[in-house]
Amino acid sequence: MKKHSQWSKGIRHWIVFFLLVAFVITCCLLLFVSVLSSSLDITFTKEHISKAAKLTFINVLFISFLFTVLDIIRRWHTVNRPVNKILSAAQKITKGDFSVRVEPVNTPFADEGFNKIIECFNKMAEELSGTETLRTDFIANVSHELKTPLAVMQNYGTMLQQPELSEEKRLEYSKGITDASRRLSDLITNILKLNKLENQQIFPNFEEYDLSEQLCECLLQFENEWEKKNINIETDIEDEVKICSDRELLSLVWNNLFSNAMKFTNEGGTVSASLKRNGDSIIVKVEDTGCGMTPEVGAHIFEKFYQGDTSHSTRGNGLGLALVKRVIDIMHGEIRVESVVGKGSSFAVEFKEVSDER
Ligand code: ADP
Repeated sequence: MKKHSQWSKGIRHWIVFFLLVAFVITCCLLLFVSVLSSSLDITFTKEHISKAAKLTFINVLFISFLFTVLDIIRRWHTVNRPVNKILSAAQKITKGDFSVRVEPVNTPFADEGFNKIIECFNKMAEELSGTETLRTDFIANVSHELKTPLAVMQNYGTMLQQPELSEEKRLEYSKGITDASRRLSDLITNILKLNKLENQQIFPNFEEYDLSEQLCECLLQFENEWEKKNINIETDIEDEVKICSDRELLSLVWNNLFSNAMKFTNEGGTVSASLKRNGDSIIVKVEDTGCGMTPEVGAHIFEKFYQGDTSHSTRGNGLGLALVKRVIDIMHGEIRVESVVGKGSSFAVEFKEVSDER
């Protein structure tokens, strides 16, 4: 109904337009003929003039109609068609179909601007479908990671209900529940941290503090672990390196790097930490003589939920290095990884003392 009224409105506009054009041109022609006849002293009869006026009017009407039809065809091919294509693709996107792409316009005389709009549109659709994949992958990963410790807790809980249970078994099962619930709580904490770092604008809280002291304190938190595994600790930490940065965000980085180094280093191995100031650059290195990783694993370690070494999967959730990378990006820093399977890994973090955003 709406379309029909638009059509009749359009046709009415065109008719008025033709009549107007034909009228104006006929008037101009008559004026020209009367000026010509008076200057050349030719006399036209009334009949001649009215015949010429009618003929001119009809001719102009016909010619302007022809041009309008040609213009409508041109507009349909060069404007309406690309606009309709973009519109229908946009409607599909609003319905959640991010796979839609618009073909570039190749019609002669087509406005190049449309191809630029189509290129941007396709890029936007690609970005959206990437984000959608990430979102669904993320939900799948989170659900999986949540289910595993919950299943462990359920199993241990059921086993604890057995009537005649030795003290040893009771302790083992309740420890299992405690470990699984700790894992769950770590996972949720990491997801919340990552969500905060990714989805909210983080304004680092700059303060001057001693980075050497912070590194030593972070390392000391793993004392139990290195003693249990008899790991040698080597440090080459420059004294009193005072920096102006976000203490809390950086401690997240050091904790994750030390935690991985301890986790992936076998009994009797070595973990070393170094801190150097080079001009206004700070370089922190955490190295270990652990299992190392292949280049294929190395290419994915900063992805969320990626775990290259599944033998340690119960002691992590694949979010640690994703968090580290996000913090380093916020600090406009850089992280470099070198690793050789069976020999060990080295993580070097370099950043400027004060972020440009300060
Ligand atoms: P998680 O340690 O919880 O599995 P991370 O994001 O911290 O998750 O690490 C992702 C993966 O990177 C690990 O599963 C492991 O394969 C690899 N990785 C990280 N640090 C080291 C390291 N020091 N030595 C060997 N592999 C490592």
